[in-house]
Amino acid sequence: MPLVTSKELLQQAQKEGYAIGAFNANNMECVKAVIEAAEEERAPVILQVSQGAIRYAGLKMATAMVNAAAEEASVPVVLHLDHGTSFLQNVQCIHAGFTSLMYDGSAEPLEKNIETSAKITEIAHAVGLPVEAELGNIPKIEDYLSTEEANELRGRSPAEQVDALRAKAGPQVEALMADPGQAQEFVSRTGIDSLAAAVGSIHGMWDDIWPLRRDRIEALQKATGLPLVCHGSSGVIRTRAEAKAKGIELKPNECTLEEAVKIGLCKINVATIISITFLRGAREAWDERPMEKDLRKILLPGLKAAKELVRSYMRLFGSSGKVTGPARVDASEVKHAE
Ligand SMILES: [Zn+2]
Repeated sequence: MPLVTSKELLQQAQKEGYAIGAFNANNMECVKAVIEAAEEERAPVILQVSQGAIRYAGLKMATAMVNAAAEEASVPVVLHLDHGTSFLQNVQCIHAGFTSLMYDGSAEPLEKNIETSAKITEIAHAVGLPVEAELGNIPKIEDYLSTEEANELRGRSPAEQVDALRAKAGPQVEALMADPGQAQEFVSRTGIDSLAAAVGSIHGMWDDIWPLRRDRIEALQKATGLPLVCHGSSGVIRTRAEAKAKGIELKPNECTLEEAVKIGLCKINVATIISITFLRGAREAWDERPMEKDLRKILLPGLKAAKELVRSYMRLFGSSGKVTGPARVDASEVKHAE
């Protein structure tokens, strides 16, 4: 089916208390992994193109990949710009055929962020497209750890990793969170459709161990009434049971990804952990067959591993089973035939 906008998907998700997974269109295999999982789960899905993907594949190629996949799909697919850097880039993406936009002005002074977000929203709304904008600052793990420090930390137990991160990054991550009063003003002065608010997550984490701030999500939801978007979700602990199994203790004002969906997260971006899972799948295949000459035979196990993780996130978010129409006829095994 043709691409749909994120507005209709997110409004429905907000009404019914589930979230739409937003996954990255980094290459053809990632696009196929996400679409196949969405097909099989009967889940609406967002494929997003990041700044890295635009540099890697080019805007034209990335757009064409998602368009082709959506056309063949029997579930609603959105083509979303992730962390759009400027007014210009957002306009270019409208022209390219995106059905959902993002402007990230979080590094700008507040007034400049409001001004550019409002300008993009006015133009996007004129052609029926919704806009996500960012408030507060969602940091990345590289802001706190060097590569050596991160590698050393990854070797420790999940509970030790969380303790070390709380000491190293905790106060600053808290200080960067979006302020509910400011969010209310931001939303009313920009007219945006969804809000990427900093609620305690960190971009680029290698494992799901880190909690979100329940109190801040609740306050932002109350202040804005908008669908909230969670960035940096790869690092967020998924459920209470998984926290317990990993020996991670949550504080009273913290929550898991599963709980955060129930209190207002409607779009959840998961990138890093899907990428790591893809690479692990491919590496295992190559370890098993080091003399393999056909790259497809190494990439396909990566695709399948990524697809299973995407599927598990769709189930966690409650978006599985939300599409009622008939599934596409061809099975993935047929599509994978060589
Ligand atoms: Zn992000």
